[in-house]
This record gives sequence, structure tokens and C-alpha cells, in this order.
Amino acid sequence: MPPVLAYHLIARRPDAGIAWTTPKQFERQIAWLAEAGYRSLSLSESLQDRQATNAKGVVITFDDGYRALLQYALPILHRYHFRATVFAIAGYVGRANSWDVKFFLPRFAHLDWGELRALLAAGWEVGSHSLNHDYLPSLPEGELRRDLALSRQILEEQLQTPIRHLSLPFGRGNPRVYQTAQEVGYESVSILGGGNFALRPLPSALRLISRRGVYLWDSLASFRQRVEAPPDSPWQYWRQRAISALAMGTVLVKSIKKSVGRFAG
Ligand SMILES: [Zn+2]
Repeated sequence: MPPVLAYHLIARRPDAGIAWTTPKQFERQIAWLAEAGYRSLSLSESLQDRQATNAKGVVITFDDGYRALLQYALPILHRYHFRATVFAIAGYVGRANSWDVKFFLPRFAHLDWGELRALLAAGWEVGSHSLNHDYLPSLPEGELRRDLALSRQILEEQLQTPIRHLSLPFGRGNPRVYQTAQEVGYESVSILGGGNFALRPLPSALRLISRRGVYLWDSLASFRQRVEAPPDSPWQYWRQRAISALAMGTVLVKSIKKSVGRFAG
């Protein structure tokens, strides 16, 4: 399996979160990949193409499906003949990201259906990033199943393309989430970080994709290290666990806001 990179937002404007990269940084990283002889594969290609394991392949993924991808990521990738896989939040296509906590900063728009179709036409692949960007392990059984099935169905109907892959909001799941994902028809589930796969009993037909997150503080050297590191190195695992713990702060703040809202009526 080639390295699978996970990006979120490519933007000049700072985001309240930690999951963004500047266009300059992004271009330097992609230029290095091209110079080093990497070629980009869609997630489906990386799972199907047996040669992919031998050739120098890399899979570039974007979570959340922000509209800003068109402005920066698409032209930069195009320049180097790279393609990517974007995971869209089915319930937020064409809307602002009110699912996230923004601390008074401007909200970012998501790609709309026409823009997602344009990315497909440019050779990109689209996957699901759930229906509403909820933290899936905390959803009750019925809601979880509905979320995973409906997000896939909406994306397939609107885009007229098979939706094979799911990326988990906040990069984390549990055996119940994996089982349900497989039952409603996903071929793979992408998480952030990897490691300890043996501790997670997986449905046999499902592939769990361990992704390497790229963040604002990454230098070119740390990026190269990330790409070249063997899969599931302990360093990779613990680093990503620490970052995910930070990102989980958003879940916490969100649930507090929700309870306060409920309390206020
Ligand atoms: Zn996300």
C-alpha cells in the first residue's frame, strides 16, 4: 500500500483549527513528490493496482471537501500532473461548514455538486466523509447506519459514480463503525494514523486505510520523512494520536455548545 496523505484545507487565511496548509507549503510538497518520482493514485487505484505497491505511488486525500480546493489545490496538482481523492460531507455539499467550531472566524464554503462533478471529470475520486461530520463512534446504532448509508446514497445519486470509500470525521472509528461501514457497502475506511490494527477486529472485506496527516507546522523535511516512513511506525502512530487528541477538542466544544443551546432552549 503506497503512503496515503491526508490534507484538509489549503488556504491563505488562517483557520481556527490546526488542519490546514498554505498554498506555498502545499506546492513545495507536491513539487518534491514529483521530483522524487512519485505518481499519484486514486484510493481505488491504490487498492486495486497490484503494481502500485512496486511503483512509487502516493495517494493524496482531502477531508471535508472545501471549495478552496478549486482555488489552490486543483491548479497546483494539475501543474504536476497529480490527482487526488476528496471526501465530501454529503449533508454539507454547497453549504458553509457550520458543523465545525470557528471561534468567530469566517466559515468556509464546501464544494457544490457541479464543482464535485468537475473534479471527477478532472480524474479525481470522491468518497464520503459522513452525512453531518458527527463523531461516529458516539452515534446510536440506528443513526450510525442511517448516516453511513444515506451519505453514500446521496453522493452516488448526485454524482452518478460509485462511492467506495469512507473517511471518518476526526479520523477515528471503532469496531462498530467499521462493521456498519462494511455492511452498507463501503470497501474501505480511512482513518488518521494507524498502528495497533491487530487490536481492532475488522470485517474481512473491509480495508482500513491508515493515513498520514499533513499540517501547518510541517517543514519540507518533516513532510519527506512522513512520506518515506514505513507504514505503522510507532512514531507515526503516537504523533497522529497526539494530533487527533487536539482535534477532538473540537468535538468536546461542540457538544458543550449543544448542551448549552439545549439548556437555553
Ligand atoms: Zn473532517
